[in-house]
Amino acid sequence: MTNIDRLLSPASMTGAEGDSSSPCGEGWVHSVETCGAADGPGLRYVVFLSGCPLRCRYCHNPDTWHMRDGHGERADALVADLGRYAGFLKRTGGGLTLSGGEPLVQPAFCRALFRGAKGLGLHTALDTSGFLGTQADTALLADIDLVLLDIKAFNEETYQALTGGSLGPTLAFAERLATLGKPVWLRYVLVPGLTDDRAEIAALAAYAAALGNVERVDVLPYHDLGAHKWALLNKTYRLADTNPPTEVETQRVRDIFDRHLPRAA
Ligand code: SF4
Repeated sequence: MTNIDRLLSPASMTGAEGDSSSPCGEGWVHSVETCGAADGPGLRYVVFLSGCPLRCRYCHNPDTWHMRDGHGERADALVADLGRYAGFLKRTGGGLTLSGGEPLVQPAFCRALFRGAKGLGLHTALDTSGFLGTQADTALLADIDLVLLDIKAFNEETYQALTGGSLGPTLAFAERLATLGKPVWLRYVLVPGLTDDRAEIAALAAYAAALGNVERVDVLPYHDLGAHKWALLNKTYRLADTNPPTEVETQRVRDIFDRHLPRAA
């Protein structure tokens, strides 16, 4: 059984490794950043949740893959802490971002945290691969102002080679968000030799433009800053021989997206 099978099996969703958030809002957290500047508008209180079904070759946080490697937190305690920063975050146009790992491994916990943030009048963002998009029900999506959607590749073969998962669920989620008119910032990690095929990128850019709800595209140059974590976990970092893209290469890809869509200034 693969990691993905394990996470998505009905048994796991009752607590073994899938969504173990309880009705009272307890979940598994890797870490909290109280003043993040890279995960949505303004300054953000970012909660990195534990658990992820994918195994991206460039993952910066392989220590988030297993839910139980995190620590248990109550949603009400996190929301109380968030409340201490609420006034400041609001003044910056920021709010709460749930990231990971993959937050949608714990949808009930996400729901409790986003509900709490909305109760504080805060902007909310979900940073997700979309692979578990079916885990996000209508109530959860209603409390999310923005989805930071990582579309890691636009070709099934590339996506599988890069992540170990399949592309279909992410596209289905993207299309559901489009139907709902939910704002999306698309993220694309540029990895030389893996996700730098220009025709594939142009097809993704055209697809994203046609969705009609993608407000911005961030092209993120691959880097290996998380490689040491793989070593600490005794895992083989398969991109050890891959160099980051040059600024020229990155700009070329940004230009492809620009021809179709807006992107970060
Ligand atoms: S989706 Fe994110 S956390 Fe999960 S393996 Fe990929 S990069 Fe790592």
